[in-house]
Amino acid sequence: MSKTPPSRPLRPATLLVRGGTMRSSMDETSEALFLTSGFVYDSAEQAEATFNGTETHYQYSRFGNPTVQMLEQRLALLEGAEACRMTATGMAAVHAAMLSHLKAGDRVVASRALFGSCHWIVSTLLPRYGIESVFVDGGDLGQWQAALARPTALVLLETPSNPMLEMVDLAAVADLAHKAGAIVVVDNVFATPLLQQPLKFGADVVVYSCTKHMDGQGRVLGGAVLGTRKWVEEVLQPFTRNTGPAISPFNAWVILKGLETLSLRVNAMCRSAAAIADFLAERPEVARTLYPFRADHPQQALARRHMSGGGTLVTFELRGGTGEAKDAAFRFCNALRVIDVSNNLGDAKSMVTHPATTTHMRIGAAERAKLGITDGTIRLSVGLEDVADLIDDLAEALDAAGGTVARAAE
Ligand SMILES: *Cc1c(COP(=O)(O)O)cnc(C)c1O
Repeated sequence: MSKTPPSRPLRPATLLVRGGTMRSSMDETSEALFLTSGFVYDSAEQAEATFNGTETHYQYSRFGNPTVQMLEQRLALLEGAEACRMTATGMAAVHAAMLSHLKAGDRVVASRALFGSCHWIVSTLLPRYGIESVFVDGGDLGQWQAALARPTALVLLETPSNPMLEMVDLAAVADLAHKAGAIVVVDNVFATPLLQQPLKFGADVVVYSCTKHMDGQGRVLGGAVLGTRKWVEEVLQPFTRNTGPAISPFNAWVILKGLETLSLRVNAMCRSAAAIADFLAERPEVARTLYPFRADHPQQALARRHMSGGGTLVTFELRGGTGEAKDAAFRFCNALRVIDVSNNLGDAKSMVTHPATTTHMRIGAAERAKLGITDGTIRLSVGLEDVADLIDDLAEALDAAGGTVARAAE
């Protein structure tokens, strides 16, 4: 069975490879895949004892599964959280974290710059159940202060945000939220647990789409919710156990193996993203480049306080030149020969998205304008290809997109 881990704390890269491993009686090297829906008991007495809680035994994979549990323990160790529960998708994680905690009559305050489906839950789903929801500009502390002047049950935010990479001052918002009686739920997908640990800044719950960097190779969907043991066991667990957003043990196993290389991948992707941001910022076709660790990012100091790296995403705005910005953006996307057009992110393969016509199409033009998303905005998720090939590809696509711009700028 598993060796006793050392009592000294292990570093993240070690936890990613070894954290939470439970070796079975077969003494396997690699984490075992328990692809089983249920479990058997030695006797009717053991089944009874398991159900009345006097004995601990796996019952059914909707409640718990050894492969899933290894992943939960690994993520909890990495995050510095007391407990973790996996879900089938990132959206199931966000939904379960919110709906397990909320009831009719409650109030939610959220940053406006949210992943599209998170925005839909707050703006459309919650009001259906009699839960009031209020959006604020995440970077504006005055708006948080005004919105949290009234009793509130839950705050949801994303930092850095999608796609404009806007930062929220976590410590300041957590302080205001706690005074209003709210728990703070942070969607930490863009930063990954390696670059930013929201619990250290006062957040109560952290949610992930493990579909992104944790799998990181475009194979499976998964989600995670992390918090205190008390909240996870008393609030979240009864909800997930009975409503059933359970992850497949197979998907959990893929993510578990994905985590082994997370640190290598995220560090390499951050290095390339920083180099690409510097390249883009010098190009005449690019009106604005957003990367949290660049000196021209409006919240660079806050980003450096929260994160140990600038992240794997770069957002930039193309000039329309003599034509429409959307046409320039489409010409640019269509001229890429290495980088894919795809709405996913955090993958080994680099990808671009045109948010105005895809991920942020449904929120409408007025809401997009409030977020600063224009028809020229492009989000680039930087992958693991050779950065020189990525820069060559971007350069050629910018030439194709902006012939008119370069000439107009002369
Ligand atoms: C992808 C994503 C989600 C949703 O995750 P799924 O696994 O696709 O359900 C939520 N928040 C952010 C920031 C994301 O990038």
